[in-house]
Amino acid sequence: MLLPKLRAQVLEANLELVRRGLVLYTFGNVSGISREQGLVVIKPSGVPYEDMKPEHLVVSDLAGKIVEGTLRPSSDLPTHLVLYKAFSGAGGVAHTHSEYATAWAQARRPIPCFGTTHADYFHGPVPVTDAMPDHEIQTEYELNTGHAIVRAFQKIDSYAIPAVLVANHGPFCWGTDAGTAAHNAVILESVARMAYFTRGINDKAEPVGRGLHDKHFMRKHGTNAYYGQAKERK
Ligand SMILES: [Zn+2]
Repeated sequence: MLLPKLRAQVLEANLELVRRGLVLYTFGNVSGISREQGLVVIKPSGVPYEDMKPEHLVVSDLAGKIVEGTLRPSSDLPTHLVLYKAFSGAGGVAHTHSEYATAWAQARRPIPCFGTTHADYFHGPVPVTDAMPDHEIQTEYELNTGHAIVRAFQKIDSYAIPAVLVANHGPFCWGTDAGTAAHNAVILESVARMAYFTRGINDKAEPVGRGLHDKHFMRKHGTNAYYGQAKERK
């Protein structure tokens, strides 16, 4: 079996979405990539999470050709592949229809940075894609979803903001590996929920100032990061 370690990581990341209440039934999918081998491991389509085993995961190359696996891959595989090709720092991709993040996606509103939880993970508002035109939906829909995400990041650093809201659909998140992508999906849902309540309490609430935003992002991710223990720093 190819890539046993990556399979275990990707399975674990998929199960994390379930444990954190981000998915219903078989919704959601996480993948991970081996950049050295140019291979992606992704959740199979339609297999209940409680029955999922490492051997059920599907291995694909970056062109979408199945290299190993008897089950069909998640139908969102083409979206994941576009993101791996466009965002060279992405080692894992996670997609959910988690409720609060999806509500912002459906409202087609970016999630403003109202506080430090958001600033710790996302260095700016979480953007929303443009709505896809019908011809992009009718053919190669999942591939075109990936292109819509990449278009939304033309002027945004995918490292600084590892998440997007696909208009009228839901969030895609990424990270250095599958576990980090799933973690970012969990944090995004929490941030989306808090932003919803913030707006509910004060519909004129302002995003945090640049100083606080930069301070929180940079202490965790900057070259002089000092958050957490030394071994966690990269
Ligand atoms: Zn979806």
